[in-house]
Amino acid sequence: MSIMENADLKNLTLDQLESFIAGCGKERYRARQIFKWLYQKDATTFEEMSNLSKEFRRELEHTAQISSLVPEVVEISRDGSMKYLFRLADGNAVESVLIPEEDRSTLCISSQVGCAMACEFCLTGTFKLARNLTTAEIVNQVCAVKRETEVRNIVLMGMGEPLANLDNVIRALQIITSPDGMQFSTRRVTVSTAGLVPELDRLGNAVTVNLAVSLNATTDEVRSRLMPINRKYPLRELLDACKRYPLPARRMITFEYVMIKGINDTLEDAKRLVRLISNIPSKVNLIPFNEYDGCSLSKSDQETIDRFHRYLLDKHVTVITRASRGGDISAACGQLRGKLEKRTD
Ligand code: SAH
Repeated sequence: MSIMENADLKNLTLDQLESFIAGCGKERYRARQIFKWLYQKDATTFEEMSNLSKEFRRELEHTAQISSLVPEVVEISRDGSMKYLFRLADGNAVESVLIPEEDRSTLCISSQVGCAMACEFCLTGTFKLARNLTTAEIVNQVCAVKRETEVRNIVLMGMGEPLANLDNVIRALQIITSPDGMQFSTRRVTVSTAGLVPELDRLGNAVTVNLAVSLNATTDEVRSRLMPINRKYPLRELLDACKRYPLPARRMITFEYVMIKGINDTLEDAKRLVRLISNIPSKVNLIPFNEYDGCSLSKSDQETIDRFHRYLLDKHVTVITRASRGGDISAACGQLRGKLEKRTD
């Protein structure tokens, strides 16, 4: 085993790859060629990079490596959504979920192993944070699923808090949206956050992507109970940060709102919600709470959700109630745990 591990090129943005290649004494444009091999042709060896000289390929084999992820298990839900379990080099595991829809498929990827946010309603949060994912581990989730099926949209809504792993998330987003990389339109990529205010500003300055904010409550009292991060960045500060967030042209912030019975689902909440977001170009995603073993919270009644939904509509708020997908394979929001359990049915 070598003392120094070869640099994993999947950890590098195009700019960084250019520096690396320059360090090898090669022409700058070679970086772009390699980047295309990695992300447009899904190369996993240097050998196949046929527009590089044999000698250069040999040299890269000694100084660099190309990581990739292969799903260890794929579970398919009755509704068509698929959960991928990826085993990482150190034995940890993360999950990604593909949600197929008629004209588009959305891939939900993870940014951390576990999560430090400890939101009361989220299963991932009960496992604490094991570690951040590397840039390569984030992009490789996309590479792996793209190998099997077309992916139209990417959401960072899987395990982890993307803004708590901001450097790697920014690099991954740059690779995913690069015209020389995976070529996703910035309009098709969404970062979802529990609301880390300084990092929100940094994200907005670094990349242009859609933003989803997990609001989940309309008073600091309830939000701090459900989401401890609210004690650090209360509603006012969070909403101010949303207001100044630079969105792609004509886009809106998505406010996610998990409907939990008797906690945040009254008409008073709906009224406060309308007031809170009135000066932010936004839409609201109502998510019926997905129950899981060991959690004492329950899902709001359908009538309560409908009433809340209708109130927002009446006030001209763009709202959708998200249909829960993948519940039978624990692939729904907040149910990812990074370890597939033995099925009993
Ligand atoms: N940490 C990020 C992304 C992961 S959570 C964030 O907080 O946004 C992705 C979404 O799932 C969030 O909107 C969160 O509120 C929601 N969620 C978490 N647990 C849930 C559950 N048990 N039922 C329904 N939605 C849940």
